Order: sequence, then C-alpha cells, then structure tokens
Amino acid sequence: MTHTGRCHCGSLAFELDGEIAEVYDCNCSMCRRRGGMLAFAAADALRETGSGTPQTYRFNTHNIAHHFCGTCGIAPYSRGVGPDGVEMACINVRCVDGIDLAALKIVQINGASL
Ligand SMILES: [Zn+2]
Repeated sequence: MTHTGRCHCGSLAFELDGEIAEVYDCNCSMCRRRGGMLAFAAADALRETGSGTPQTYRFNTHNIAHHFCGTCGIAPYSRGVGPDGVEMACINVRCVDGIDLAALKIVQINGASL
C-alpha cells in the first residue's frame, strides 16, 4: 500500500510505499525533544511530493539529513545511510495521513547510546 503524509502547512508532502506496523521511539538527544514516532524504509520507498524545499539539520556524525519545514517547523522525514552503507529513509509516522497511532507496535530504541 501507499501512505501519504505531510507537514502541518502542507509544504512538505510525501508518499511512502509499504506497511507500517512497527514504529520506533528513540531516546537520542534530538528525538527525545522532538517526540517523533519513526518508521524506516528503503530510500526509494519515500517520494517527496510537496512543493516546498525542506530545511535540513545534521548533528553528531552528520550521516542523517533531518528535514523539516521552514514554514511550520514540522519534521516529516529524514534521509541517511544505514550502518550497512545502504541509503534509507526515516519517516515521522505522526505525519502520515489517517494512521491509527494507538494500533502501532512501539519499539524503544536506545539512540542515546549509539
Ligand atoms: Zn510546513
């Protein structure tokens, strides 16, 4: 299936191929402040469909481009390279249209120690 999602103002929109069953709650210095629920996907499963150009924030190893909207401030997705060297995407599931957040299995990941 294909999910759709967007930031609050709609400038950054996306389509995501695949099922979302399990999401990650990360305790790294950024995620614990931002409060996103994350799903990971292959890089080409995420298509950016919005008219806006994302702002980008990088920290620590700078391996992950954390994209956010310069207008509304919401961060719908990131792109980066996984530990295996493969490009991947990370989606803030809270930005996916119509998803039942309470039905998702939440997995805690200890990003603070990575
Ligand atoms: Zn926005």
